Amino acid sequence: MKYFKLSEFACNCGCGKNKINRTFVRILSSARQESINQDGTEIPFVISSGYRCEKHIESINYVKNHPAKKGEKQLTSEHTKGLAADIIVKNSRERAVILGALMNSGLSRFGISHNRNGFSFIHVDMADEDLKPPGVIWTY
Ligand SMILES: [Zn+2]
Repeated sequence: MKYFKLSEFACNCGCGKNKINRTFVRILSSARQESINQDGTEIPFVISSGYRCEKHIESINYVKNHPAKKGEKQLTSEHTKGLAADIIVKNSRERAVILGALMNSGLSRFGISHNRNGFSFIHVDMADEDLKPPGVIWTY
């Protein structure tokens, strides 16, 4: 991959496992190519989290924070499927450029976080449309 080392997407709980989806990284790579300021300078994608192992997901209380709705199956984090990444943004300009580039690459599920865990990031994932709706932006 031109813009990423796969190791940037490894679980960061300390286990080192990495089941990031290659197609997903390829799409992120094409978005990264378009992530350019108006003055022509490039905005790198700094990945704060990619693949997360089951142990890591447990430690951040994903199930507790995403309880199953009545009659529906418990959702699973896209991070544990290798289909999600969190990209750090330094300011509102970077957020706009990166989000636009991701959208142009066909991705449509985003979480916008501001100053969570000491930094701001865009969560992007490629969930199966039968499991989670496309075309959404949520906030943290
Ligand atoms: Zn882990």
